[in-house]
Amino acid sequence: MRLVIIGNGITGVTAARTVRQLQPTAEITLVSDETTHHFSRTALMYVYMGHLRYPDIKPYEDWFWRENRLDLLHATATGLDAVAQTVRLSTGQQLPYDKLLLATGSVSRSAGWPGQHLRGVQGLYSLPDLEKMTRDTHNIGRGVVVGGGLIGIELAEMLHSRGIPVTMLVREAHYWASVLPPEEANLVQQQLDENHVEVRYRTELREILGDAEGRVRAVVTTAGEEIACQWVGLAIGVTPNLSLAQNSVVETDRGILVDELLQTNVPHIFAAGDCAQHRRPGAGEVPIEQLWYTGRMQGETVAHTICGQPTPYRRGTWFNSAKFFHLEYQTYGQVPAQPVAGLDSFYWEHPSGRHALRITFEAAGDRAVLGVNALGLRLRHEVCAAWIAARTPLPTVLAQLGAANFDPEFFRQHEPAIVRHFNGQFPQQPVALQRRKGLFGMLSFKG
Ligand SMILES: Cc1cc2nc3c(=O)[nH]c(=O)nc-3n(C[C@H](O)[C@H](O)[C@H](O)COP(=O)(O)OP(=O)(O)OC[C@H]3O[C@@H](n4cnc5c(N)ncnc54)[C@H](O)[C@@H]3O)c2cc1C
Repeated sequence: MRLVIIGNGITGVTAARTVRQLQPTAEITLVSDETTHHFSRTALMYVYMGHLRYPDIKPYEDWFWRENRLDLLHATATGLDAVAQTVRLSTGQQLPYDKLLLATGSVSRSAGWPGQHLRGVQGLYSLPDLEKMTRDTHNIGRGVVVGGGLIGIELAEMLHSRGIPVTMLVREAHYWASVLPPEEANLVQQQLDENHVEVRYRTELREILGDAEGRVRAVVTTAGEEIACQWVGLAIGVTPNLSLAQNSVVETDRGILVDELLQTNVPHIFAAGDCAQHRRPGAGEVPIEQLWYTGRMQGETVAHTICGQPTPYRRGTWFNSAKFFHLEYQTYGQVPAQPVAGLDSFYWEHPSGRHALRITFEAAGDRAVLGVNALGLRLRHEVCAAWIAARTPLPTVLAQLGAANFDPEFFRQHEPAIVRHFNGQFPQQPVALQRRKGLFGMLSFKG
């Protein structure tokens, strides 16, 4: 089998590695126009901040690819012929395939603002974006970040790490309002305040102004304010990269449309990762998943189907994690940003504002736990996912909270305070914290 994979991100590379394991004789070619070798996109910010160098964010040594007979082509795929089963490359080469996987990822979204093509205005998605940002933020007096989501706060932290003052423009009333309940957003706000990031809420970008050399000199907000700056980061989200699929017979909508086997409408052509849009997502699932771990899961799943073992994609319990300056965040299952009928939530926050836990549960019946938000607490993925999958009642989860503590030997334990808080709110059914097994099966919790 000749397998061609367009995109060497986490999705394409996971698919390639899995196919290599399943079919030792397959001919596998990975095409990417970004870099020859795969790197960890999620770690880009640490290169800018000087914590890591580019070679450190390549998960595999350069010999790995040849050793595993994975051919790498640094080129753009510019067209595909589904009848002849070939992909045209920017080098003029026609690449024949028996199976083709589109793993083309995302591109930064833009809103067509006046001035967005000025020098010093950009999104952050790719390695060339990072290089551009490094060049254009050198010695600047202020950066403006547009968008209050995950990439927005990353950009603010990156600029802050180089001592560059930052202003963020956020359309909503609080940080990441589409995802975070106000209490969690307040904790993030505390991080922004402590790190001197100025945030203008309920404010959008109206226009970007340039100087005589075509470089950004200021932004104008919808509140009419002009903010002098020499760099603007656009972080209003990403959208599937359809540049190859769109001009072909492959059916697209917002993303490349796929069924549960990650097959497109065209025989032998598959799509997975950020670029794929599920025609019929499962209950409570979104059609387009733009996460690192879902890319990896989709890459692994589609590899099985490509190798003749049809495997439907099942994501399981939703999970995401991030870091807002010094505040770690994990979320599992369903934690709506706004109250939802039939769903209740228990929230605990440490007086320091550096640790918080929210557990959402069904208001009726057994109070089955549906979701968890953890800030400044590291929880065990498998424990939280199992509680949610089993619809475990809230009192049981609280009693067993210690089992989810990621590393009780190294992280402070807040379970007694959390349970005390719960018992104060619900005195009619007090919960007793169960003792938990620690490292090497020893009983380590005495509280
Ligand atoms: C700055 C940043 C931070 C992030 N942090 C997190 C995080 O903390 N946690 C998390 O879960 N997710 C995070 N994400 C999202 C995560 O990185 C993506 O979900 C993931 O990388 C998608 O993987 P992918 O393999 O589907 O696509 P990509 O990683 O986008 O890879 C696709 C590749 O295909 C190439 N390509 C596209 N079209 C062509 C073509 N026609 N020819 C040749 N090559 C082509 C692209 O250049 C790209 O290299 C972050 C994203 C960014 C940008």
